[in-house]
Amino acid sequence: IAQFDPAQIRADFPILGTEVRGKPLTYLDSGATAQKPFSVIEAISRYYSAENANIHRGLHFLSEQATEAYESARGTVANFIGASDPDEIIFARGATEGINLVAHGFIETVLKPGDEILISHMEHHANIVPWQIAAEKTGAELKVIPVTEAGEIDIDAFESLLSERTKLLSIVHVSNALGTINPVQAMIEKAHAAGVPVLLDGCQSVPHMQVDLSELNCDFFVFSGHKLFGPTGIGVLWGKREWLEKFPPYESGGDMIEQVDFGGTTYKPIPAKFEAGTPHIAGVIGLAAAIEYVKRLDRDGALRHEAALLQAATEALSDVDNLRIIGKAPHKASILSFVIDGVHPHDIGTFLDADGVAVRAGHHCTQPLLKRFGLPATARASFAFYNNFDDVERLANAVKKLQRFFG
Ligand code: PMP
Repeated sequence: IAQFDPAQIRADFPILGTEVRGKPLTYLDSGATAQKPFSVIEAISRYYSAENANIHRGLHFLSEQATEAYESARGTVANFIGASDPDEIIFARGATEGINLVAHGFIETVLKPGDEILISHMEHHANIVPWQIAAEKTGAELKVIPVTEAGEIDIDAFESLLSERTKLLSIVHVSNALGTINPVQAMIEKAHAAGVPVLLDGCQSVPHMQVDLSELNCDFFVFSGHKLFGPTGIGVLWGKREWLEKFPPYESGGDMIEQVDFGGTTYKPIPAKFEAGTPHIAGVIGLAAAIEYVKRLDRDGALRHEAALLQAATEALSDVDNLRIIGKAPHKASILSFVIDGVHPHDIGTFLDADGVAVRAGHHCTQPLLKRFGLPATARASFAFYNNFDDVERLANAVKKLQRFFG
């Protein structure tokens, strides 16, 4: 593995060489979706150009090859996140579908009136709404751990909310809106001590840290491929075997059955039980290519570079009058949310876009969290290892120009 070199890394991502509105692209929206390296684009293109076939069906060469690529990707994913059993990896549309699958399992096999599902105030809507629906359907209650002014989970409150009624703790590993890295290891230990299983939403952690499930020992983990430099439409649910075996099928149809008879149907074991229909084969191949790309990186170097970018951007924006950074946790991934008094975040987004600076402006699918800070929206710059200090400078310059413009 060669030492991390940001300039060399940028050359792997073709889109970073493009211009928008006559300006070099400054892409600071990797939290929404990350850009793709050549190796991912080529793997998908190669699959469709030379290898396309349906899996698990035909006894022909291409089908066998596609099946082999699809199933070996399962091993690649398992190995990457420290899961020992590839059968515990379920390919889904994304983190959203992964959480919905678990919620469905809990509705069908666990939740009863009076039970409680524990989430935090900083969850993405994908980790709120499925649990609201689960609560409505079963008579269970949704409990919410508060978030402090600095944007951290209130650990004392968490401990007092854990009870024998709690049937699941479902929390975000790294906040997409604030960047906060939550102390999930300690939270998992406390939850387990109380007999409570834990789902971790790893959408924003897998791109920014080396996740090792064998250490974390959570019960479910979800992430989306497109935030990990892979394609859209593919994501992963990892779950402990005993849970996945207990859950009934989520979707049903072809490929997930053993035998179909009008007298009754039997299902395949996991993972097939949860992968009904033709899956996103190209997506899975692209995701495996993305993981191979990340594994070839000097990951420590890449993460140090991201931390340096975050620090530089935080310092540069701290100089701007009337600008407030939202989320001041000491442990943050390279995500920087801010507001400027008197300027709507959407206007910040539009103004920066004129200079080719792509940030997110909005509620980041975390409306309850922003409401907690008394805000309808923030502007959010999210950095990946392919960003550089020129990007930070262009962000800071555009924000300062905006400041002068709005007076
Ligand atoms: N959780 C978090 C923390 C996220 O950042 C996102 C994506 N913004 C999601 C869940 C949902 O991911 P997807 O839309 O890819 O299913």
